[in-house]
Amino acid sequence: MKAVAEPTPSAESAIPAIPHLIGGERVSGTSGRSVAVFEPATGRHSGELPLASVKEVDVAVASAQAAFGQWRDVSIARRTKLMYAFRNLVADNAEEIARRLTAEHGKVLSDALGEVARGLENIEFACGLAEHLKGTYNEHASTGVDVYSVRRPLGVVAGITPFNFPAMVPLWMLPNAIACGNTFVLKPSERDPSAPTFIAELFHEAGFPPGVLNVVHGDKVAVDRLLEHPEVKAVSFVGSTPIARYVYETAASHGKRVQALAGAKNHLVVLPDADIDLAADSAVSAAYGSAGERCMAISVAVAVGDAADPLVDAIAARLEKLRIGPGTDPDSEMGPLITREHRDRVAEYVGIGDSEGATVVVDGRDAEFEGDGFFLGVTLLDHVTADMRVYQDEIFGPVLSVVRVESYHDAVDLMKNNQWGNGAAIFTRDGGAARQFQEDADAGMVGINVPIPVPVGYHSFGGWKDSAFGDTTMYGPEGIHFYTRPKVMTSRWPDPSRSAVDLGFPTNR
Ligand code: NAD
Repeated sequence: MKAVAEPTPSAESAIPAIPHLIGGERVSGTSGRSVAVFEPATGRHSGELPLASVKEVDVAVASAQAAFGQWRDVSIARRTKLMYAFRNLVADNAEEIARRLTAEHGKVLSDALGEVARGLENIEFACGLAEHLKGTYNEHASTGVDVYSVRRPLGVVAGITPFNFPAMVPLWMLPNAIACGNTFVLKPSERDPSAPTFIAELFHEAGFPPGVLNVVHGDKVAVDRLLEHPEVKAVSFVGSTPIARYVYETAASHGKRVQALAGAKNHLVVLPDADIDLAADSAVSAAYGSAGERCMAISVAVAVGDAADPLVDAIAARLEKLRIGPGTDPDSEMGPLITREHRDRVAEYVGIGDSEGATVVVDGRDAEFEGDGFFLGVTLLDHVTADMRVYQDEIFGPVLSVVRVESYHDAVDLMKNNQWGNGAAIFTRDGGAARQFQEDADAGMVGINVPIPVPVGYHSFGGWKDSAFGDTTMYGPEGIHFYTRPKVMTSRWPDPSRSAVDLGFPTNR
């Protein structure tokens, strides 16, 4: 199948219909249910997405199951070549993928290109499958006994992904899963499905057999079927905490392996000795980049002691200059939010913060925008405390809360008592404090003068506490572990002196 640039126009209307991809073919929805896809920068209804029925999910799983029979035995050499071809196609089409991301998600083009680059890292890691799939071997475990292990694929695995990284998060999952010999059913977010669908088309163009990767679009109906389907052996999920918990519990109760990454409230601790300009620049890009719709976004700046006033002033000064506009405009530094409803919900939180007693230093509701796009200005809340909803809830928008504390230990305690533990960062010039923070931070990923410590593709990604369910984090070495199961062989061969062939050993050996 040749990848195409645009979704297929539906017969009934001028709004393009986005297809499922099953068995290597574009397939129109037959459930009779669909949902509108919007361009957040304009509010335009830009696509219509079919929502799969149980029957359509079953067809996708059957296609993956049929492909698994052959795919698991395709040689490592061939799998590696195909993965390199896929890598090159994604690299060659980075701008087209980014264009789709900007259109349906709203993030600025440079962010969208960054997302593709991070996704590419995961394909590149999977290209090293020969190394990742090496087994282990012990000779002479006992006299004449050798023990060795290999890692085998699981079968059909499913990936269910969120709206905020519609290209990168599927690429956290499917390259490793498929490199390991599994086949895959992807259920992308229904908000911005064009980029992952296009990537799946590139995957087929690379030459992978039909059915190795299938894409079904859908909502809870499709997700629930994947969670209970007897032929789905493992589920990778990324999304909000309530749904991650539900996915984890439901899939596990159906006997599946599950990894479910979830929501976050990431803290950036600024010590009094920090370079305040560096901390403020980092806080602004990490809190407001991608309109705050990143699971590793900084949503709480914890100002320790004397750091507070200069930090708040420095952030506020930067916000005056921050340019908000359509992601296609090269001057824009921040785009719109994903939907009108989400934009309104985030704006409501600014009001909640105000009524709870936080100081609204910059109020995003004051910003004015032309047109029907889902834009909101940036908000900076100061004097936020741990009992406020703006501190406790994941807002997932361009709102940064500043919590003032007296000491480093207060900052650490604040994080310990928080529900989530995805990322945490510290800004300081003190090596001892930085090293201590590595140990004390109650989070899965820690940054030292780095606000968003997303691990490179050859490490693994995952948070602690309510930011992740399951015991294996995503991509990198833990991804290989998740998508394979061990088989251990113990072998004994006759003593060489008793071999049927005369090997020339003395008989009393
Ligand atoms: P979401 O939980 O609403 O949706 C995620 C996926 O679950 C989508 O594919 C959606 O179709 C499906 N889904 C939604 N409701 C469902 C239901 N009731 N039953 C079954 N399936 C359902 O998340 P979102 O709004 O798309 O993404 C934003 C969230 O994802 C934020 O909370 C963010 O922190 C989180 N996130 C976490 C990470 C991480 O690595 N920890 C990464 C990216 C995003």
